[in-house]
Amino acid sequence: MDAHGAVARISLEAVRHNLQVAKQLAPTAKAMAVVKANAYGHGDLTVAAALKDDADLFAVARFEEAQKLRAGGIRQPILLLEGFFNPAQLEFSALNNFHLCIHQYAQLEALEQTPLAAPVTVWVKIDSGMHRVGFAPEQADEVFARLAAIAQVVQPVNAMTHFARADEPDQQAVTEAQIARFKQVTAGKVKHTALCNSAGVIAFPDAHADYIRPGIMLYGITPFGDRQGTDFGLRPAMNFTTSLIAVREHKAGEPVGYAGSWVSPRDTRIGVIAVGYGDGYPRMAPAGTPVLINGRRVTLAGRVSMDMATVDLGPDATDQVGDEVLLWGEGLAAEEVARHIGTIAYELVTRMTARPRLEYVD
Ligand SMILES: *Cc1c(COP(=O)(O)O)cnc(C)c1O
Repeated sequence: MDAHGAVARISLEAVRHNLQVAKQLAPTAKAMAVVKANAYGHGDLTVAAALKDDADLFAVARFEEAQKLRAGGIRQPILLLEGFFNPAQLEFSALNNFHLCIHQYAQLEALEQTPLAAPVTVWVKIDSGMHRVGFAPEQADEVFARLAAIAQVVQPVNAMTHFARADEPDQQAVTEAQIARFKQVTAGKVKHTALCNSAGVIAFPDAHADYIRPGIMLYGITPFGDRQGTDFGLRPAMNFTTSLIAVREHKAGEPVGYAGSWVSPRDTRIGVIAVGYGDGYPRMAPAGTPVLINGRRVTLAGRVSMDMATVDLGPDATDQVGDEVLLWGEGLAAEEVARHIGTIAYELVTRMTARPRLEYVD
């Protein structure tokens, strides 16, 4: 008898392969590998190190994420997707080759007023329709002109935008309008442009521009709710596994777990697996959510608790304590699991807690 808790086994070879898939889809563009939020739960420093010969740039959301990559020996420029938020971050960015996305006037003013010890590369974020951050199209000319007057800003500047609905096949016109608005505002006025997240890389080849910004696809997951990575030649980078820690005989009509929310319709065997919301496996996962045990799909029965979840193994099951359970990964796409839970695979991989061990295979 030997069982273990949740382990996320991460294939760096798969991550490298997935970046190559993105590059093959956008052969004329350079690639910014998006490794924010701990590389979507996959370990930012390890993933970035694995891509050090393949990514032209890295992109993160937070200043501290960029600092960690730099301190960990990553040499490429690192784009701060939301820029800087105080003069100290700006000064550090200039000295450490962090590229800065700027999306609001306060950042522009700080650039105008802060003396810098080294030139800084700027990406102007244009709000082409997402309406979250970015300068309005009609503000762009003024912003470009003011940036052109700042000695410490590398000239000419770059521009980027972000798609709101590129993952929705029936909303192509929305993304086409974003692309058109962005092109109109930036044409002839900036050095490099970047528009595409993973959905854009896959679905909008005309918008690949100078740089692509693939995130989720690097991890072998698609942004499309009804597809999976393997449909596009991607390989799941994470196999999230645990093991069976008990197999119990269970009588028809008896409930399982908190609140008795699931009652077995038949005599069966219930498997108890070592994963719960303490590992980041969502408590909202309903009965019927699949897991893979000994090559077959079985489904959750009863509530997910902090440390354990229960599955209906069926009356003839021969599974043993210690047998491996795949929660998502190769053979059970995170996209499919996410659909059962009513979320997206991005959230599943990104919100794992610190408890599961991360193991790397190169
Ligand atoms: C997170 C992010 C990306 C990557 O998006 P994916 O859908 O994960 O490919 C690209 N650009 C910006 C601005 C982002 O915030």
